[in-house]
Amino acid sequence: MLHIAVVGSGPSGVYAAQSLVQQDEVPGVRVDVLDRLPCPYGLVRYGVAPDHEKIKSLQNNLRTVLEHERVRFLGGVEVGPAGLPAARLRELYHAVVYCVGAAADRRLGVPGEDLAGSHSATDFVSWYSAHPDAVENGFVNGVESAVVIGVGNVAVDVARMLARGQAELRPTDMPQSALGVLADSRVREVHMVGRRGPSQARFTTKELRELGSLPDTEVLVDPAELALDPAYADPAGLPGPVRRNIEVMRGWAERPERGLPRRIRLRFFLRPVEVAGAAGRVSGVRFERTVPDGRGGVTGTGRYEDLPAQLVLRSVGYRGVPLDGLPFDPDRGTVPHVAGRVMRGGVAVPGAYVAGWIKRGPTGVIGTNRPCAKETVRSLLDDAPALRRRTAADDPLAALRRAGLRPVEWTGWQAIERAEAELGRSMGRGPVKIPDWEGLLGAARGTAGAR
Ligand code: NAP
Repeated sequence: MLHIAVVGSGPSGVYAAQSLVQQDEVPGVRVDVLDRLPCPYGLVRYGVAPDHEKIKSLQNNLRTVLEHERVRFLGGVEVGPAGLPAARLRELYHAVVYCVGAAADRRLGVPGEDLAGSHSATDFVSWYSAHPDAVENGFVNGVESAVVIGVGNVAVDVARMLARGQAELRPTDMPQSALGVLADSRVREVHMVGRRGPSQARFTTKELRELGSLPDTEVLVDPAELALDPAYADPAGLPGPVRRNIEVMRGWAERPERGLPRRIRLRFFLRPVEVAGAAGRVSGVRFERTVPDGRGGVTGTGRYEDLPAQLVLRSVGYRGVPLDGLPFDPDRGTVPHVAGRVMRGGVAVPGAYVAGWIKRGPTGVIGTNRPCAKETVRSLLDDAPALRRRTAADDPLAALRRAGLRPVEWTGWQAIERAEAELGRSMGRGPVKIPDWEGLLGAARGTAGAR
């Protein structure tokens, strides 16, 4: 019998658990899925935008895995020096699969990026998603014009959330405080800016198209910036997803401005060089105009454009962070591995595996994690004879408790779900997320307070 710890209960962790219990090659594998948070589902709960109910409903599929008879959810357990040291974790289980994602955001590396009013998109997302570590920064208070730097799906998410009104946000599970702030928003102009051309934008067509269906909002594209992209003149030869993006943007570029209350301006060939400030607060962003270099990149032109903004959201991708006791590739922000086996100096670290963003970097959609986790589990099952020879605790949960940890088990999570449904009911809304540690742990343990 193998007892495996999966660290992280986002899609990659849950798909890893699923692959481990839904096979009969190595029968009877048991899996504990540990998470730092008392709540499962990772970025499906704390990253997918609240208005994307269909994607969020994926939680129902993930739930069936976490409710499997040989899978156990143990929330509120932080692996690392502050909680459960990785070395101790390795003693408790035959193997550990790290599925911890990419917890940090990439930096722009330009002056002014830490001015008040300049935030990473991930901070903004965490706030409206009720992540218990999120900080209320006012975000949109006093903001009329916002600049979103980057043209990936996260940029599209935050631009869309900035343009949404109370009527569309109220049916979501977003916390009441964030709903109030966004409902009072005076944001009229959102500039979403790419440093390269429209054919190199990373957003997907479905997400892009959705911007065009927002009430009271129009999407504006400068035809001259589209035409600057060499791919624009001959879209027929482009891969389907890129061609479809171009077609959507062409439609917007050809449409006359309608004077709607809110505008999302898609801009291209602008490289951020400075976040400008006045009196310690963001006042805009200075960009250098770029042109295609013929090799997929761009070169600067020495000409600049300033966009006024009271809010800057840097949406330039996530980054993995080093993990206690594991090797790390600082250039890629990932753990070195071969087919999911963690490698140190060209040698596999016994009993250590990775899946998801910490393995392959922060790319792909949720479904990409399924084959990724499968590959890792394949490696683990191949190693099963050696893993069986490793020692493991008979009862890891008892050992965790003896170490002073108080894991939130599945019943605790179900209590959080009930408390969120009740909170929503009390405000005439559907389930509403509890946004703080105290509230979550209080609900999970049937007590108020006690972190
Ligand atoms: P992303 O797709 O990697 O996009 C990052 C963007 O930032 C790119 O446009 C990139 O431009 C730009 N960028 C990077 N460094 C920059 C710099 N120094 N200055 C200016 N721009 C810079 O990352 P993401 O949007 O964070 O998304 C992460 C992953 O989550 C993606 O796989 C995404 O599809 C997925 N996701 C999916 C959904 C959905 O399916 N609805 C929603 C959210 C996220 P270059 O291309 O020029 O580097």
